Amino acid sequence: MEYRDSADISGGLVNHAGGSGLGSGGGRLAVGGGGTLVVLILALILGFDPTGILGGGTGSGDTQAANPVTQCTRGSDIAKNRECRWNAYMASIGSYWSGALRGFKATSMTTFSGQVRTGCGAASSSVGPFYCPVDQVIYIDTDYTAALLAQLGARGGDAAEAYIVAHEYGHHIQNLTGVMAKAQSRQQTGAGSASVRLELQADCYAGVWFRHSTDDPNGAIKSVTQDDLNRIIDAAIAVGDDAIQQAQTGSVNQESWTHGSSAQRKNWTSIGFSSGDPTKCDTFSATSLG
Ligand SMILES: [Zn+2]
Repeated sequence: MEYRDSADISGGLVNHAGGSGLGSGGGRLAVGGGGTLVVLILALILGFDPTGILGGGTGSGDTQAANPVTQCTRGSDIAKNRECRWNAYMASIGSYWSGALRGFKATSMTTFSGQVRTGCGAASSSVGPFYCPVDQVIYIDTDYTAALLAQLGARGGDAAEAYIVAHEYGHHIQNLTGVMAKAQSRQQTGAGSASVRLELQADCYAGVWFRHSTDDPNGAIKSVTQDDLNRIIDAAIAVGDDAIQQAQTGSVNQESWTHGSSAQRKNWTSIGFSSGDPTKCDTFSATSLG
């Protein structure tokens, strides 16, 4: 994945919670009172987002203040400060959806280290990247996520990270379209559950974005390669419920799936990419999820 030096990435809407800003490498956040500390076991962390776990629209947490990342304005800033790549992902994904969805409203990303208070409650790094529908923010511990990808055996790289962000952005789109609220009122686990269909649709949306990521001649992403796509598919496979269960417990239990199997996640990411059409991401009408 190559970035366009001249691209304006200031619209990426990335904020940093706690500390003095990016690259401080310094202290962990001190989480104050209020909000419930959500401690999730490892088995839950690798699915990317705890929207169901955190209770979706019922959160009563108060969102931690976060400072806009101001040092990332151009694509060329990524070469100087790798943290700016998150702004590039967000700018590119937001730009795609602004043209693809009527009534689109951008979401923002809050990066953090260790712990963060969100509109969905307090969260620690171990929940993995997630989208909180209450405050409409994508939360990500960027260092943790890079380590997570490595731990999962995905080959990682920027494309895999961007896929994660695009998946979370997909949840924001679902929040805007009302699909998320509908899904959360239905059965929450199991191979064909609303939760799995919601997650697979977000995968599909990530694939759609990737297909269009280089469309904008002034956009943040200048070029992508087959290898980038392979890395995305690799990440989608690595985070399948069956793969994670197998690794954690040595067996697979379909009834507790929340995100879908490796094969399903690969399938829907591929459908998104090959069609480039979000209307092809109707996982809720699909009789077979792949
Ligand atoms: Zn998700």
